[in-house]
Amino acid sequence: MFIDSHCHIDFIEFDIDREFVLQQCIKQDISQLVVPGTRVEHFERQLRLANTFPAIRNALGLHPYFLDTYRETHLNELQSIIEENYDSIVALGEVGLDKAISIDWKVQVKVFQEQVEMAKSFQLPLILHHRKSHNEILQILKQCKFNHGGIVHAFSGSLQIAEAYTELGFAIGVGGGITYPRAHKTRKAIERLPLSSLVLETDSPDMPLNGYQGKRNSPLKLPIIFDALLTLRTESTKEVQEACFQNVFNYLVHM
Ligand SMILES: [Zn+2]
Repeated sequence: MFIDSHCHIDFIEFDIDREFVLQQCIKQDISQLVVPGTRVEHFERQLRLANTFPAIRNALGLHPYFLDTYRETHLNELQSIIEENYDSIVALGEVGLDKAISIDWKVQVKVFQEQVEMAKSFQLPLILHHRKSHNEILQILKQCKFNHGGIVHAFSGSLQIAEAYTELGFAIGVGGGITYPRAHKTRKAIERLPLSSLVLETDSPDMPLNGYQGKRNSPLKLPIIFDALLTLRTESTKEVQEACFQNVFNYLVHM
């Protein structure tokens, strides 16, 4: 059994065949898919999809990419929708900081900090988005004394950075990045981390795997990421698969 711990199956890229993809997931033993929140306008759609497809587990949050339409009221709206749906929400996310986009850095930091505080008050784990921002994210998590853990989505970076997150109670999201031989540093980190810190994810429709560049990514590619992970690990197939599955329950809530 597999869980895709990060998958945007709610995005329009899946409008033409979402039901088919989800049926195929069940056939391939992908029993659950965690769908992270991106923006307020999309929350109702996410909640509706989870009612239709029982494999979907929602997180809700304001993703840094979509802060171009951010308004002060969005944080209050996020808070109320989490309150109303608390028992079905697996984490607050995806939230974080991204230095490769043009969204004002101060706005990113403010919205991230406020959401870390919100997750803390709800006692919810976080799903973290990072790009060239590990140090700033770690600093904010420490300043806020955040201790409900969660998942660092699509981790890339050194073993030292990965360990800074695991020390704070976070799992490391293993995605398509490890299928690229050039990702030496990340692959080394994934090789050395304890199995109890690893979860699998695709980030579909984004982050195509090596050999599939330019194509829509799909949760159905999860077994390919799993195979790439196996080549980095010394444990048996069964051990790695069971750990990656069980870990999601340990790092997220209401699964
Ligand atoms: Zn994402």
